[in-house]
Amino acid sequence: MAVFNHVSFDEHEQVVFCHDKESGLKAIIAVHNTNLGPGVGGCRMWNYSSDDEALTDVLRLSRGMTYKNALAGLAMGGGKAVIIADPKTTDREKLFLAFGRFVNSLGGKYYSAEDVGVSTSDIMIANRETPFVAGTEGKSGDPSPFTALGTYLGIKAAIKHQRGLDSLKGIRVSVQGVGHVGYYLCQHLHKEGAELVVTDIHQASLDRVATEFGAKVVAPQDIYEQDVDVYAPCALGATINDATLPLLKASIIAGCANNQLAEVRHGEKLKDMGILYAPDYVINAGGIINVSFENNYNESASTAKVEQIYQTLLTIFARAEAENRTTGSVADEMAKAIIDAAR
Ligand code: NAD
Repeated sequence: MAVFNHVSFDEHEQVVFCHDKESGLKAIIAVHNTNLGPGVGGCRMWNYSSDDEALTDVLRLSRGMTYKNALAGLAMGGGKAVIIADPKTTDREKLFLAFGRFVNSLGGKYYSAEDVGVSTSDIMIANRETPFVAGTEGKSGDPSPFTALGTYLGIKAAIKHQRGLDSLKGIRVSVQGVGHVGYYLCQHLHKEGAELVVTDIHQASLDRVATEFGAKVVAPQDIYEQDVDVYAPCALGATINDATLPLLKASIIAGCANNQLAEVRHGEKLKDMGILYAPDYVINAGGIINVSFENNYNESASTAKVEQIYQTLLTIFARAEAENRTTGSVADEMAKAIIDAAR
């Protein structure tokens, strides 16, 4: 397993491998860049099939956080953590106390929060060992509704750019993953009259959105080929790849999942296919924006900042079109200018 030569290493400042014998914790904390402030990014708990897979995930995710936080205008750098374990593990107390101690040992260089497989209650456990966590109860809380708001506004920006429309009424959206964010996203979309096609691997989550929002349910493998206007990836990353691209009928990809493109070249492919792609770390910044208000919580100020995602995306779409570039490369360039200026 290469670390410094890893294809996603990208000048990470610090990578910490954590092991706690008593709880069985195995985790990796990655701090990508602290030019703008401490590395802030959630902790993911996942049943990785290998240590290499976990390392790749945490490196890609923490780099994404550097770019996300910069472009969202936050005084925060990029970091992320992964815990290598079954996300359905029920005995979580010792695990998250041990995780909290490792976060604490970094002295504030990394702040953790919720991500896939990790809930607010887990972060509250870690908080007993370290102040360097965010998204806690009584402060900013669950970031998911804010991520969903930003994603919904990102879909609206894409529809505005591509079709000149201000409403999503009658727009068909496929949502892959109706968990924390996906559920709230469906709520916004349904309220505005969009038609929903959804999939998930948890039947109870599907039943809920089918009942509450009249969503059509399809099997996980069938989500790509749905006849929709927008495909919203809201589960895990790398769902835009060589196998799925030929199946897509949507002309817009706009969802909350991190690292949606399997490789950078898939962004080029989307451009060639005339599919408008909302760069993942731009459209899904709502949650981290809310987290940034942790110590001085103000819901209306947070909401107003999340709403800026709409304009940021319109700017990226317009520049990408004018310069005949991918939306991803335009977003990267804008973020990098902010990060470099803060060095
Ligand atoms: P979650 O775990 O609550 O929801 C993910 C859902 O995807 C679950 O319901 C799960 O069953 C489903 N899923 C997993 N594999 C699937 C598959 N193969 N096909 C269909 N569904 C599948 O997570 P979340 O917090 O809603 O986050 C969703 C995505 O958004 C993740 O990629 C996360 O990193 C990203 N994200 C989340 C936030 C946030 O505020 N929670 C912020 C930024 C980015």
